[in-house]
Amino acid sequence: MTVRLRFAPSPTGYLHIGGLRTALYCYLYANKNNGKYILRIEDTDQTRFVEGAMENLIDSLLWAGIKHDEGVFVEDNKVVQKGEFGPYIQSERLPIYQKYIKELIDNGHAYYCFCSKERLDKVREEQKEQNKTPMYDKHCVNMSKEEVQAKIAAGEQYVIRLNIPENVDITFSDIVKGDITINSSEVDDQVLIKSDGFPTYHFAVVVDDNLMGITHVVRGEEWLTSTPKQKMI
Ligand code: GLU
Ligand code: ZN
Repeated sequence: MTVRLRFAPSPTGYLHIGGLRTALYCYLYANKNNGKYILRIEDTDQTRFVEGAMENLIDSLLWAGIKHDEGVFVEDNKVVQKGEFGPYIQSERLPIYQKYIKELIDNGHAYYCFCSKERLDKVREEQKEQNKTPMYDKHCVNMSKEEVQAKIAAGEQYVIRLNIPENVDITFSDIVKGDITINSSEVDDQVLIKSDGFPTYHFAVVVDDNLMGITHVVRGEEWLTSTPKQKMI
């Protein structure tokens, strides 16, 4: 097995010290193990995109000597991509996410949700009043194919959610924190495809880490609670 790690910043601003530290660990671990260190750009949140941030991130990493083997590079002021697992910029991978979301819908692991923001807010308020953790109530999970098609044809807005099974334990092992187990009842039916057709971070990261053969994920502690969701995906 070739060790493969990725640093996957979002071009929403300039590189900060925490990101630099994560990138350094990826680089060191990959190199120690004769592996590969990949730089992927996670730009699926179009509302937070900052012009020039990607070029700046790449420059800053190289300035610090953290050189990647694969992914996105800037050469002669042009963005170029190198490696056999590309594209490495998520907004250029939309057809790939479409393919996998279709698979998840076909086998019942994902479903269309047409709930309005008003409805979601109301459900959340009610849950809060009952001292429950606010979670999507699976209102749309059993909609028939025909009903879904009719709504889409009528131009209704939708998102696609992950259909989390009830009461399964999700376990993963973290090198710093040890084995962590969380029950699926604590995990929301998260959105995989947003109403603008773009994948969410959670969905894109799982598809890409799989397709790019990532063997180890190094990231900040604030992402620990994301791991059970991503394991479910
Ligand atoms: N795009 C995420 C970020 O900006 C990557 C997090 C991860 O490592 O999965 O931090
Ligand atoms: Zn819904």
